[in-house]
Amino acid sequence: MPIFEYKCNKCGHKAEFLEKSTGKNKHVCEKCGSDQMQKLFSGFSVGQSSQGDSCSTGTCPTGTCGL
Ligand SMILES: [Zn+2]
Repeated sequence: MPIFEYKCNKCGHKAEFLEKSTGKNKHVCEKCGSDQMQKLFSGFSVGQSSQGDSCSTGTCPTGTCGL
């Protein structure tokens, strides 16, 4: 199953979802609960970048770290 990256249109939170090839895929933002998730087409850049994504883990005090 392919993994797609989505960005919340409401709060800007990014999340990855597994999607089946059939049926409609509707995702809800795990932060604000909005269902307005926009699919991102950023390719396969999520291999080793998990460590620099501390904002989504809640360890970044400002939520704006650009590391
Ligand atoms: Zn959100």
